[in-house]
Amino acid sequence: MINVLMFGPPGSGKGTQSVTLAEKYNLLHLSTGDMLRAELAANTDLGRKMAAIMASGELVPDEVVIDMIAHKIDSTTDKAGFIFDGFPRTVQQAEALQTMLEGRKMKIDMMLVLEVGDTELMDRMKKRALVSGRADDADESVINNRIAVYRAKTEPVIEYGRRAGVCHQVDGVGSIDEIFGRLCNHIETII
Ligand code: ADP
Repeated sequence: MINVLMFGPPGSGKGTQSVTLAEKYNLLHLSTGDMLRAELAANTDLGRKMAAIMASGELVPDEVVIDMIAHKIDSTTDKAGFIFDGFPRTVQQAEALQTMLEGRKMKIDMMLVLEVGDTELMDRMKKRALVSGRADDADESVINNRIAVYRAKTEPVIEYGRRAGVCHQVDGVGSIDEIFGRLCNHIETII
């Protein structure tokens, strides 16, 4: 089993790249953002509780996403591993993931960090707002908050990956295919 963490600020292309990487390497794509949006769409109790937090660009409580991920890992049997997209987003989530994987005889094998500058991110998010239908894409102050939350709470997780010796930085600017090629080159060093 291989476990790959896909990292990068909002709008860096993690979701797009994770989907195609998951197909190519037979990994289960685990996006906590997608899972939370599914709760919202199904109007569950959890979805209703998380809606305001997500709309403001803040992070939902660590336990919520940790439980979702644990449940998915335990119900998967037919995959070569997992690609985590948008999780872990805090050092506490990273520690919980490491413990969860160790308990199941796995580890974090690689962390891929997509690097994209703030101006390019803003441009991409404004374009995405026209098609995504996501409330958190539609408002510039919410987008700015998401980038700020990323820098404050999520970037420290990259340092965690560096210390573990699994962090690889990847240029996230270029065509989708070019970036995909760069990511594959890294993944192929561990399979
Ligand atoms: P983005 O494109 O901003 O990276 P995501 O789809 O990954 O978007 O996440 C959307 C929102 O869902 C976040 O702004 C946050 O409120 C919530 N969320 C997603 N994943 C996590 C997580 N691991 N921890 C806390 N909140 C999360």
